[in-house]
Amino acid sequence: MKSSNRRSFICTAGATSAAVFLERVGVAGKQAVADAAQSLSAGKTTYSDIPCIDVHTHVGGEAGAIARYLAMRDILLGSRGNDLAIWINLGSNSHPILDFDSVMKAGRGRILCCISDYSSHDGLDIPPDELPNWLERGYIGYKIWAGPPSRRLKPDDSGFPYIDDPAHDPTFDAMEKAGMVCASIHIADPNGPYHHRTKWLPDPVEFWREMMAFRARLARNPGLTVVAAHGMWSVCQDAQIDFLRYMLGTYPNLNIDLAATFQYYHLVSRDNLRDFMIEWSDRILFGTDAGRWSDADGDVSHAERYSRCFRMLETDELVEGGFFSMNEAKGLALPRDVLEKIYFKNAVRIYPRVGEHLRKLGYTIG
Ligand SMILES: [Zn+2]
Repeated sequence: MKSSNRRSFICTAGATSAAVFLERVGVAGKQAVADAAQSLSAGKTTYSDIPCIDVHTHVGGEAGAIARYLAMRDILLGSRGNDLAIWINLGSNSHPILDFDSVMKAGRGRILCCISDYSSHDGLDIPPDELPNWLERGYIGYKIWAGPPSRRLKPDDSGFPYIDDPAHDPTFDAMEKAGMVCASIHIADPNGPYHHRTKWLPDPVEFWREMMAFRARLARNPGLTVVAAHGMWSVCQDAQIDFLRYMLGTYPNLNIDLAATFQYYHLVSRDNLRDFMIEWSDRILFGTDAGRWSDADGDVSHAERYSRCFRMLETDELVEGGFFSMNEAKGLALPRDVLEKIYFKNAVRIYPRVGEHLRKLGYTIG
């Protein structure tokens, strides 16, 4: 998508970043790094011309953490060839509001910010009438965390347990009116099949209670554009994928990101998941849930994590894990047009100004 001599740029960027990186880690780390780099280079992507937007990250606002993302980008580009063009930064519980301008500057235009609230159970903090101002200032969405009671950040908060609570109505009504995207809203937690429930949310009754609350919220705000984090946590059982089909079919403004889902693909039928991704490719966005790391080793390990996610989507290889674990699953070998939508086209359509930012970075996106 970039003009003229992009291929030679990739080679140069890769060689340069590898040299700089090896210099930085010193002799002791060189062998481990060389091994990692070799495994990273094992399979080049055939989709290096498709820019990728990671819509679900927690980069934060620190210049050092942002620099690590850019260094990791160079390593991935130079080894496997995937072009991580933009990250959407959802902040964190300790930093719900990021400084847009300083993040943009440190991230060289590649890191876009959302406002966030990681404790919806004690009420949503941003006054509804201020939402249009945040949009005007460049923030591209509002991230809300509404996970299960067992993971509440303040365990004694019992006032607003579910996302459909009427206390949230003014916020969601204002978001709907202002066109503020409900960015990577976190509902429930992974609930695997019997014998594989996961530690996050082992109780299926609580899982479905939260799903029903989410469904009620979407019914209350049909004009709200929503990206549900982690595949709406509904890709851990084949029956959940059917529920996801129903939800996407019923609520046309609902979309999902893939953050932290890759490690659960071994729990479901690969063909079912592949068919689902192709069928609903207009509504699925790439995401990882990448956080912060502080050392140069993390640059390579995070490039490897990204590489596993890309291989899972692009190839039919047996991939040893996703972004967070090493559960082996066969890649989905998605068609090119599906990858384009998941990697960037859906994000351009859904979030304000993302297309504009991509163009400023030199991408031709049609
Ligand atoms: Zn997250």
